[in-house]
Amino acid sequence: MLKVDQIDVFYGNIQALKGVSLEVNEGEIVTLIGANGAGKSTLLKTLSGLIKPKNGFIQYLGDSIGGKPAQAIVKAGISQVPEGRRVFANMTVEENLELGAFLRKDSKEIHKDIQKVYETFPRLLERRKQLSGTLSGGEQQMLAMGRAVMARPKLLLLDEPSMGLAPLMVKTIFQIIEDINRNGTTILLVEQNAHMALSIANRAYVIETGRVTVSGTAAELQASEEIKKAYLGGH
Ligand code: ATP
Repeated sequence: MLKVDQIDVFYGNIQALKGVSLEVNEGEIVTLIGANGAGKSTLLKTLSGLIKPKNGFIQYLGDSIGGKPAQAIVKAGISQVPEGRRVFANMTVEENLELGAFLRKDSKEIHKDIQKVYETFPRLLERRKQLSGTLSGGEQQMLAMGRAVMARPKLLLLDEPSMGLAPLMVKTIFQIIEDINRNGTTILLVEQNAHMALSIANRAYVIETGRVTVSGTAAELQASEEIKKAYLGGH
């Protein structure tokens, strides 16, 4: 579905991604794990068209999308839930969900999808008229995910959904990621919480200072002594 081939990304003179290659197949949950500053967010921003790669190719469903504008990429079926969730604070929960569907014109279907989001996240239904800026961190994460799903993505990019959440909320969010995947959405999940990410992923890539250093099935990475030491707190 997605094939990233040897991409280089720069911020001025600083090279944030160095020849990164990876693949995501339809139906998979693939996770990208790595420490702070490794280049995880940069990769997602490049995939969603916010940054242009200097070299390399990005293929999505057979088309080259490297350097295409962000709106064209959303239209093609890729949605991103950004790090730090960034909901529109001065809009209600429901207005945020409607915005997620801004490229769609099928208002009946949009309404149905909003109801589906409420089924997935009953907490958002209770708070549909509440200003989003007053939601808790976990609720904002739910809203950011709900908003992304409203675009009916084929591929969902998640940037550290567990960040800053209490353990119970992390568990809930990961269960929902699995549900979204079961309902037909392919997922690329960027996480620092390698333990949780590997527990739901099919395959994984490790990124260190801009390079992919390890890749394999989630089970292989969970069993690797090196990965255990570096990313799983020795467990
Ligand atoms: P974290 O887990 O801390 O979010 P990350 O793996 O997502 O880290 P990136 O945000 O992709 O890392 O950053 C990769 C590198 O690029 C870092 O060294 C960072 O300082 C640098 N970088 C990121 N954004 C910019 C920018 N706008 N200008 C210059 N350098 C940047």
